[in-house]
Amino acid sequence: MRNQISLFESERHELKDSIATSLASLREYGQRYRHWCVAYSGGKDSTATVTFVAWAIQSGQVAPPESLTVLYADTRMELPPLQQSAMALLNRLSADGYNARVVLPEMDSRFYVYMLGYGVPPSSNRFRWCTPKLKVEPMYSALAGLRESAGEKLLMLTGVRMGESAARDARIALSCSKDSGECGQGWFQVATDASMADTLAPLLHWRLCHVYDWLYFEQERHGYGTSGVATVYGDDDVRTGCVGCPLTSRDTSIERIIRNPDWAHLTPLLELKPLYRELKKPAWRKRKLQPEQRQDGQWSTNVQRMGPLTMEGRAMGLETVLDIQDWAGVDLINPEEEARIREMWALDMWPRKWSAEDADATEPHDAISLSADGRIVRQALMV
Ligand code: SF4
Repeated sequence: MRNQISLFESERHELKDSIATSLASLREYGQRYRHWCVAYSGGKDSTATVTFVAWAIQSGQVAPPESLTVLYADTRMELPPLQQSAMALLNRLSADGYNARVVLPEMDSRFYVYMLGYGVPPSSNRFRWCTPKLKVEPMYSALAGLRESAGEKLLMLTGVRMGESAARDARIALSCSKDSGECGQGWFQVATDASMADTLAPLLHWRLCHVYDWLYFEQERHGYGTSGVATVYGDDDVRTGCVGCPLTSRDTSIERIIRNPDWAHLTPLLELKPLYRELKKPAWRKRKLQPEQRQDGQWSTNVQRMGPLTMEGRAMGLETVLDIQDWAGVDLINPEEEARIREMWALDMWPRKWSAEDADATEPHDAISLSADGRIVRQALMV
């Protein structure tokens, strides 16, 4: 449902208006699909979405589909309080008769296994491998399984929320690295394969205050314990996602929750971002010393690019993360993941086009650059 109809009025909506619009949207589009599924991340927008949809059905205001599946994308990097709330909500949804499932990334695609086992440097805005690996691909494969067993197209409900003004413009942003966005939701909204599912964002037009009101003050109405999620965010417009997300400049959600004595033991998680920054430095990386040619025969513009983590970098990273997890008393890398990381080292695994033979990035070398007219220019190392 990429072009959702607009039902907005000129005045700002109050929560009751937003609820009425969402109910109308669910009724209108929901009746066209027999099987629905919700992409649930555990964040505030998707928690509001999943509880709204369940409430709308339970209260008889929206006709129930033949099946409603809630897919919780568990990156294994979730904020512990949100993870706990998510598991409690999934149990409750199961008890209410919905199909609530946890979707995990494949072992080799998990954040630490991919980074510290395979040696891919921490995700960045220029090379953002984590969202596809941790969220989009696992969700799509779960969705494909659902599509196959349903034998027909599904309706996928996402927690994308742009607020009234942006929703009026029908703009859906892929970016989730700023403001209060929830990583992954925008991707599901715009990138879901149309043969598998159409997507609908029933809370697209909700303002932030509506979400908080729903989670905090409307619990009696909908009956789901959602205040814990709202408490994690407080009144701040914080973005949530993986702990220590390397794409953000500060870990505002952790900074917030450790002010609560119940969660103060999570303070060591603040050490994750400095670790990722450290791992991006040449001291822990490989480098291509010779220019590379692209498939079209042209020289690659990124001459002498830095590449994967050295084995020393991976070992330092693993040791540091294990220390942080012991110190904070959380599960960041479980024994199976640690065993797989060490196995990948033993198998000498490197990302494509790289090997142990490549130079360490700190090794002294001739400087090579690409001139404006596409020629390779070498400048010998002066010693
Ligand atoms: S929250 Fe950050 S680390 Fe997690 S998938 Fe999104 S961008 Fe990547």
